[in-house]
Amino acid sequence: MRSRYSAYCLHDVDYIYRTYHTSCRADNPKPTLAAFAENSHFISLKVLSCEQSSQQGYVSFNVRYIQQNVLYEFTERSRFVFEDAWYYVDGVMTDKTPVKLQRNILCPCNSGKKFKQCHRHRLSGN
Ligand SMILES: [Zn+2]
Repeated sequence: MRSRYSAYCLHDVDYIYRTYHTSCRADNPKPTLAAFAENSHFISLKVLSCEQSSQQGYVSFNVRYIQQNVLYEFTERSRFVFEDAWYYVDGVMTDKTPVKLQRNILCPCNSGKKFKQCHRHRLSGN
């Protein structure tokens, strides 16, 4: 699961696609994954719990990312199955209300910089 998060950060769409279970690939075509990864700046990942048997695993995590100057946060309980490798099948997601970020606040990525000097999307207004 961490490796999938890293792949999102690195825009490694092939990896994200390959680690989807074959039954889910049609619903998650590469261009959609690529567009999401490119427009999102992932700023934190917290793994809350892992449960694993030989065939199935569940990983609960909290993730925060910025998209177009809005901070998104959700918690997901992801289900993985083991075949020749671990594959992501689906997850139950709980979304927080997105927060519009003002330019002069401290950037939520904890860089210590102001948002406008860090992850702010420079092409949009405000
Ligand atoms: Zn930042």
